[in-house]
Amino acid sequence: MTTNFYAPPAAIRGGRVVLPEDEARHAHTVLRGATGDEMTVVDGTGGWYRVEITHAAPEQVVGTIVEQREEVGEPAVDVTVALGLLKKRSRFETFVEKAVELGVRRIVPLRTARAERESIREERLRNVMVAAMKQCRRSRLPALVAPRSTADLLDESESERRLVCHAGDASVPIRQVVDPGGAAASALVLVGPEGGFAPSEVEGAVRAGATPVSLGARRLRAETAGLAALHAVITAQSN
Ligand code: SAM
Repeated sequence: MTTNFYAPPAAIRGGRVVLPEDEARHAHTVLRGATGDEMTVVDGTGGWYRVEITHAAPEQVVGTIVEQREEVGEPAVDVTVALGLLKKRSRFETFVEKAVELGVRRIVPLRTARAERESIREERLRNVMVAAMKQCRRSRLPALVAPRSTADLLDESESERRLVCHAGDASVPIRQVVDPGGAAASALVLVGPEGGFAPSEVEGAVRAGATPVSLGARRLRAETAGLAALHAVITAQSN
């Protein structure tokens, strides 16, 4: 079977994998996985397994590990993208799906002065993230952090490099900051909501060590800006 399956670490023990019920149903009923077939399973924490199915029933698929690898599909750089909470939930969802595909490690919904929402639909977004992780063949499930303010995030972040996306005169093209030569192991990227950041938020980010970066001459939608910045950071330093 060419599909990747997801089983959390607790379901992988002693050389055996027990697929969670929904994954088992998909493997058995939809993909017709049977005893003797091989499947690949990822555990969401960097573990990748080639597994031979030893038992297949509609709600239970069990297998034996025949090969194990680490960090399959993962970029070398640890990137957190914090995106302003968007009015349209579907746009935030699109961002989440694509950011997982591009290799994000952590997503933070930002409560900003001009954000028109306070909350996210956590379970729905998590399902989107699991599906994207499997689809793009990653082995890590990125973290979805609870919404917080820019100031709180900057206080607690341990990222080596901080970037605030802002189309202002003082901004430098993102490539100038992230291109090889200035490699960092981790980066935090801040992106405003539809209405942008308030000037005080950009100033606060700069005081907290963030470089204001430009993504080109066009004003991008927030989710496009988040994805463009993420791609620039990841491709400058790894794959
Ligand atoms: N009217 C808002 C403003 O002027 O800030 C536009 C906000 S834009 C739709 C949403 C967010 O995307 C911005 O806060 C910024 O973080 C990012 N963004 C969009 N285009 C950008 C660009 N060309 N360079 C840097 N950041 C950009």
